[in-house]
Amino acid sequence: MSETVSNRIDGKAISTALKARVGEEVARIKSEHGLTPGLAVVLVGTDPASEVYVRNKGIATREAGMNSFEYKMDSSASEEEVLAKVAELNADPAVHGFLVQFPVPEQISQQNIIDAIDPIKDADGLHPLNAGRLASGLPAMVPATPEGCVIMAKQAAGGELAGKHAVIIGRSNLVGKPVAQLLLKENCTVTIAHSRSRDLPALARQADILVAAVGRPNMVRGDWVKPGAIVIDVGINRIPAPEKGEGKTRLIGDVCFDEAKEVAGAITPVPGGVGLMTVACLLRNTVIAACRQHGVALPDDF
Ligand code: NDP
Repeated sequence: MSETVSNRIDGKAISTALKARVGEEVARIKSEHGLTPGLAVVLVGTDPASEVYVRNKGIATREAGMNSFEYKMDSSASEEEVLAKVAELNADPAVHGFLVQFPVPEQISQQNIIDAIDPIKDADGLHPLNAGRLASGLPAMVPATPEGCVIMAKQAAGGELAGKHAVIIGRSNLVGKPVAQLLLKENCTVTIAHSRSRDLPALARQADILVAAVGRPNMVRGDWVKPGAIVIDVGINRIPAPEKGEGKTRLIGDVCFDEAKEVAGAITPVPGGVGLMTVACLLRNTVIAACRQHGVALPDDF
C-alpha cells in the first residue's frame, strides 16, 4: 500500500545508505589504524520484541565489519548482577559502545543501569552526562532514534532545517527531549508538546516538522497536519490484526498514515521508517565512540 505513496520517506533506502557509509569507515579505520569497533548488547530476560531487536543489531553490526558481543541474562537477574556486567563492559577494551536493552525486569532500576555506563561507551546516549552535553551544544553520544529522525527530516527538507517550526509530541529522555535538542541544533524553532499540552491539534498544525513520539496508535489525524509539513512518526504500536488471521498483530505508528499522507509534504511510514534508522545510527555512534577512545579522526561529514 504505502509503496505507491510518492511523499513517503524511505527509511530502508536512507538506513541502507548510512549502514554502507558506516561499513566504509569501519574498513578504513581497520586498515589505517588496526582498530575494529565493537558494540555489545546486554539482554535481560526473554521479551520477544527485545530478542528480535538484539538479533537484528547483532546482524547489522557484523555486516558493517564490526565486532558484535551479546550477553543474555536470566529474567531473574538482580540489579547487582547487571551492574557487574556493566562494569565488566566499561573495562573491556574490545567494547567501544554498549547498551542494556530496555525494558529490564522490574527488580532492576533502569536509571541505575544508565548511570553506571561509562559515558564514553554509552552507545544509546542516555547517560545524564551525554544528555547534558547535548543540551549544552557539546560533542556527546546522541540517542540513536532521535538522530535517525533528524537525518530523515533533513533529507526530506533538502538538507536545510533552519528557521522551520518543529513540534515534537512526547518529552521522554529516550526520544522527545533529544529530538528537540537536535532540531534546536539545526536552528529550528522548537515546541515540545506532551500529555498536559492544551489543544494539541492546533499546536501540531503549526508544525513545518511534526514529530510524533507518544505510543498511541493513530493519534495524529490528517487534519492535525499542516499542508506540506514533514511528518516523522516514531511510534511503534502493536495492534490486533484479525484480517491476518486469529491472534495476529501488526505494527502501526502514532500518525494515521492514510490520512496524513494526503496532506504532508513528506511522511515516514511504520514500519519502514524511523525504526530502521535506529540500528544504523547506533552503529555510527559506536564507530564515533571507538575513534574518540583511540584518538582517531573521522571525516567531518561522517
Ligand atoms: P514514553 O512513554 O516514555 O513517552 C511518551 C510521551 O508521550 C510522554 O512524554 C507523554 O507525555 C506523551 N504523551 C502520552 N500521551 C499523550 C497524549 N495523549 N497527548 C500528548 N502527549 C502524550 O515513550 P517513548 O518516548 O519511549 O516512546 C514513544 C514511542 O516511540 C513509543 O511508541 C515507542 O515504542 C516508540 N519508539 C520507537 C523507537 C524506534 O526505534 N523507532 C525507539 C524508541 C521508542 P508526559 O510526559 O506528559 O507523560
